[in-house]
Amino acid sequence: MTTTLFHGGLLFDGTGSPPAPADVVVSGSEIVHVGAPGTGDADHGVDLTGRTLLPGLFDCHVHVMADGMDILRDLQTPFSYRFYVAAQNLAATVATGITSVRDAGGADAGVKLAVQRGLVTGPRMQISLDMLSQTGGHGDEYFPCGQHVPLMSPPYPGKPSAIVDGPDEMRKRVREYVRDGADVIKVATSGGVLSVGSDPRRAHFRMSELDVLVEEATAAGRFVMAHAQASDGIKNAVRAGIRSIEHGIFLDDEAIGLMLEHGTWLVPTLIAPVWVLEAVERGASLSDASIRKARDVIEIHADAVRRAVEAGVKVAMGTDAGVGPHGDNLRELGLMQRAGMTPAQALHAATGQAAALLGVDDRLGTVEAGKTADLVVIGGDATDFDGIGTRVEQVWIDGELRVPGARPDR
Ligand SMILES: [Zn+2]
Repeated sequence: MTTTLFHGGLLFDGTGSPPAPADVVVSGSEIVHVGAPGTGDADHGVDLTGRTLLPGLFDCHVHVMADGMDILRDLQTPFSYRFYVAAQNLAATVATGITSVRDAGGADAGVKLAVQRGLVTGPRMQISLDMLSQTGGHGDEYFPCGQHVPLMSPPYPGKPSAIVDGPDEMRKRVREYVRDGADVIKVATSGGVLSVGSDPRRAHFRMSELDVLVEEATAAGRFVMAHAQASDGIKNAVRAGIRSIEHGIFLDDEAIGLMLEHGTWLVPTLIAPVWVLEAVERGASLSDASIRKARDVIEIHADAVRRAVEAGVKVAMGTDAGVGPHGDNLRELGLMQRAGMTPAQALHAATGQAAALLGVDDRLGTVEAGKTADLVVIGGDATDFDGIGTRVEQVWIDGELRVPGARPDR
């Protein structure tokens, strides 16, 4: 078995401790030694002088099938084109050091299988298929012209409709999603920014529906993630036992208290509304309502995350990549820092904490002997987030070098 020694640089081990000098030895696909400089020995060496070694990074909220938002463009694009775009998105994700993602809607079991079999380069994936929404909810692509235009989430074989109303429909739909390969169940417990007709300040689904959802998901061994922006939508999700609140824009103190009580995770996606406005500046066609909502929420959102972090709510990194360009994910680290997290806390949210949220921390998320060798080499100091996406030099998955050098344009 080939062994490799990473030496001469700093190690951020994913536990939240600041980076420190260390030797790391990988044998095959496994990390077999982590110790003080000079303690490691191997067949090959990787000189990390002036660099930082980290666990493979996580993005807990991506949409690999989406490539920015643009209604007119999507109307003029053949359906199957999205699968080829996804291959590009997946490769860009790995190139920026992200070796594990949770897809928050869009990717189906075939996409995941193509990555697993090496047909396309991509990160490890947990998929949700789609986001369950009530009629008129965040995933209901209904336009003021009176037409349903499912640009983001058309149903097709292996991906049932995401629109569901009432406890009975909910029970059946969760079972269908599990049958069709969902690793995690995603639900919209409030309206959102990008849907035309839904209000991000309104709670969606009633407790009777959410209770059935969590009951069925739990019975199938699946966690639930909630797109939850409205205060009431967040509280309903937490009370129902949902594992993570995605976005959490209108978090009030009661919601923060409930999250602490229930051990609920927050996945902020601070970059998402920024991406929406940047896309509009570049000329993307979006509904006026979506643009207005994106403008309205940016500061409210940063303030909510700051209060949640101060209170001690567990945070894992997610970006909503797909709303913006894949490969741009690490900008979220700087925004988390601006929202009050220390650099080590932000990196922890993208490594050890993210692995814990996804339930894979027994083998991923930290650099420790016995863990799987998903590793990233960042040029310079990884706690300096300025331009960090341009400094990703090496990405290792399962002990294999997948990307020597990041995309130069990021
Ligand atoms: Zn999303």
